[in-house]
Amino acid sequence: MDTSQILVTVGGVALIAGNLWFFFGKKATIKPAAKGALYACPMHPWITSDDPTADCSICGMKLVRSDEVGN
Ligand SMILES: [Zn+2]
Repeated sequence: MDTSQILVTVGGVALIAGNLWFFFGKKATIKPAAKGALYACPMHPWITSDDPTADCSICGMKLVRSDEVGN
């Protein structure tokens, strides 16, 4: 393996690690919602629930607070 291959490999790993950190780090910062807050799927905002442990019935993603979905 020459230097350029090592750089590409290290760069790719760093990029993936950064994405994972961003994705999971962001999820980890979601705090329990206030009483009565509504949760929605980030991909399917019309899928909502008042249950913080609920999953999207379409894609199975964990629902997030609707005020953090981003619209
Ligand atoms: Zn969904």
